[in-house]
Amino acid sequence: MTGVNQWLRLIILFLVCFTIAAYGWFLLGGAKKEYIVTPQNSQYKIIDDSVQSGATTATLDISKHSVFLECDIINKAKWPFCEIAISLTNYIDKGIDLSTYHSVGIDIDYTSPLEDERVRVYLRNFDSTYANVNDPISLKFNAIEYSPGVDEGLKIFPLRNFQVLSWWIAENNIPVDKSSRQFDNISVIEIATGSYVKESYYAIRLNRLVFYGEWISESSLVKALLLLWVVTAIIIIMSERFILDKRIKHTEERSQRLRDANRLLYNKSLKFEHLACTDPLTRIRNRHTVTEWLEEITIQTKSNDIPFSMIFIDIDHFKAVNDTYGHGFGDTVLVKFAETIDKLIRRSDMFARWGGEEFVLFCPETNMSTAVEIAEEIRETIANKVWDFDREFKLTCSLGVAELVNESSDEFIQRADLALLKAKKMGRNRIEISWEHQQLR
Ligand code: GH3
Ligand code: MG
Ligand code: MG
Repeated sequence: MTGVNQWLRLIILFLVCFTIAAYGWFLLGGAKKEYIVTPQNSQYKIIDDSVQSGATTATLDISKHSVFLECDIINKAKWPFCEIAISLTNYIDKGIDLSTYHSVGIDIDYTSPLEDERVRVYLRNFDSTYANVNDPISLKFNAIEYSPGVDEGLKIFPLRNFQVLSWWIAENNIPVDKSSRQFDNISVIEIATGSYVKESYYAIRLNRLVFYGEWISESSLVKALLLLWVVTAIIIIMSERFILDKRIKHTEERSQRLRDANRLLYNKSLKFEHLACTDPLTRIRNRHTVTEWLEEITIQTKSNDIPFSMIFIDIDHFKAVNDTYGHGFGDTVLVKFAETIDKLIRRSDMFARWGGEEFVLFCPETNMSTAVEIAEEIRETIANKVWDFDREFKLTCSLGVAELVNESSDEFIQRADLALLKAKKMGRNRIEISWEHQQLR
């Protein structure tokens, strides 16, 4: 999680720096742009009232620093005038998009018979919905009128102050939605003498004409920055979600692996437990397992006054078996012997190898007479068994039986062992009983 937080902090730091830098750049004027109208990027010409059968004469002098129009207004046409017409492009229908500019700066010296006489400035916009290339009057008149004076320098007008001339709207039958100012395709700029000129000498010196704008408006910049924050936030949330999902998957896989490993260990431990409890040769329980179990069952049996008997079993003359047929054969006999007895006993009985060719059978909830019956069955079965060996083979065993009285498990076993010893002494292949009066103490 620390790595993710680190990244998050870096991204937010970057966004904050970028936002401050971008907005600072904007405030310091980094986004400003200018479009200067010069003789190099436009064409200048005179238009006067001769097109309306007037008699006004005009001359135009284009120098490096200014454009100078002189005209003698003659009162002949209905509306005498003269003007500088500036074509921004070579084609009347393909002008320049000035809609991204917010104001225009105009530096004009105007010589007129009266003081404070006004000039008209038209930004002519072409739009095929109302204009046509063969009729210059059909281009929209975005107009202002103002008094430039002489040597008054640059005057700046917001483009929103321009108005569309009402006679043009009326004459061209312009629909309402097209009758507001429009600067997206300005192909001609006109600077003309005022609306009410006298018969006199007029001069317009255009020193500078410049449009001011910004590459991006303040609101667009704020929107763009906001969008950047929102998109980044979405990306961060989505990537965090993705990372979280991946981590959850990883953790699940890990815990699954741990569960598998645990199960494996558990199975192994069961196997080891089984191995620890089992005699490796005969596969029945070993002495160690029985000893622990016996301690517990002896206590329970005594306290509940339940009968409990045991049978000590020892193969007769087993040494001779080894000596005659070999140790390997002796092992096989031990296995078959254990198998045979294991099949005879009850589920509740506990049969174990005590060591060598000695076995014990503990019979819970069994009194002496039943235990003797079981012992007899074992003795008989072993003595009469036809072994599936490739040779004639006979085997007998001796058994000592005892029933638990008020004694320790060791004393109990010892009594059964003594009974077994007696059976051996009495000639083997027989059962001997350890009676209560034969208690050791
Ligand atoms: P008795 O009738 O008096 O019990 O005579 P015995 O020969 O059976 O008894 P003894 O104690 O003299 O000999 C026991 C023999 O059992 C000696 C030993 O080699 C053999 N024995 C003990 N454990 C194993 C075993 O795991 N495998 C084999 N093959 N023989 C074993
Ligand atoms: Mg023996
Ligand atoms: Mg023995």
